[in-house]
Amino acid sequence: MLELDDVTVTFPGATAVDRVGLRVEEGSVLAVLGPSGCGKSTLLRAVAGLEPISSGSIRWRGRDLAGVATHERGFALMFQDGQLFAQASVADNIGYPLRLRGQGRRQRAGRVAELLELVGLGGYADRRPATLSGGEQQRVALARSLAADPALLLLDEPLSSLDRSLRDRLAGDLREILTTTGTTALLVTHDHDEAFTVADRMAVMLDGRIAQEGDAVEVWRQPVSREVASFVGYDTILEPTSTERRSWLPTASPGVAGRGPGADPASSVVALRRSALRVDPEGELRGVVRRVVTVSDALHLEVDVEGVGRMPALAADRGPEVGDDVRLTVDPRGVAHLPE
Ligand code: ADP
Ligand code: MG
Repeated sequence: MLELDDVTVTFPGATAVDRVGLRVEEGSVLAVLGPSGCGKSTLLRAVAGLEPISSGSIRWRGRDLAGVATHERGFALMFQDGQLFAQASVADNIGYPLRLRGQGRRQRAGRVAELLELVGLGGYADRRPATLSGGEQQRVALARSLAADPALLLLDEPLSSLDRSLRDRLAGDLREILTTTGTTALLVTHDHDEAFTVADRMAVMLDGRIAQEGDAVEVWRQPVSREVASFVGYDTILEPTSTERRSWLPTASPGVAGRGPGADPASSVVALRRSALRVDPEGELRGVVRRVVTVSDALHLEVDVEGVGRMPALAADRGPEVGDDVRLTVDPRGVAHLPE
């Protein structure tokens, strides 16, 4: 297990990582999710031994890593841009960590072939990186990171340089590869979907600190603060002091962090995703459409909701237009009750 306790990294004039505590169980994948500049890369570099920590401790299998050099830790790092050797073939790129360990050509070839199959690039051994797509290059980089059977794989936004559809596909593949190989991994990213698809557990990092850690679904459904809620996609917060009508809100589901089962929505802080309100002729809320934005497979609306105010909402394609009266139904999966 990887254990971080009170890890702090300071630069002149700034604390990039602030008393971070995290656990990564062996065989599991933890994603640290946070906006740009919150300290993710610095945290990963500290675990790799590339950045000295000012205080706290990092332990691997019970051993304190203070004073253990990067190459002695047995970890592998993979970056956003795979950093492949342009002049070397795919096979030589993947076999590089094995060559460093003194493995002969024949021994390397077997392992490289196995890794190429694993990442879905059988037959690519002799290609040069420049002849590969961005997604293929990242697969090669992943194969190279896995070549030496690292005890722990550290991934810094591994898919962020790829376009959306490719990223989604590769995130699924990455999860499958990490699961089949039983790799222990710490992934940092600003991308919700990447974190959600690849990881078992999620830690939200804001401003150098871990704001919430838990099962990925739990963090998604039950954010513990306004800041976490807003970062994971709840774009509306209703304060208990506000005066809008509340009877339409679902009560808190059992097990919600700060509020017991059946918490009264009238007196809690409520966070809503856009998907909480959908246009539906049977819906109990009424409103007038004020804005319509077409996205790939839905319409994003702004609706003046009777008794509530201006709210984001969703409609299926070929939906309403600006000025239309609509009815809205509430999807409880898009509603979270926050602790005070
Ligand atoms: P993230 O990866 O989440 O985008 P970083 O870990 O790269 O964030 O950076 C966190 C903060 O630390 C930023 O404010 C950044 O400017 C600062 N920082 C990172 N590296 C250095 C450095 N070598 N010297 C000074 N400040 C740094
Ligand atoms: Mg970074």
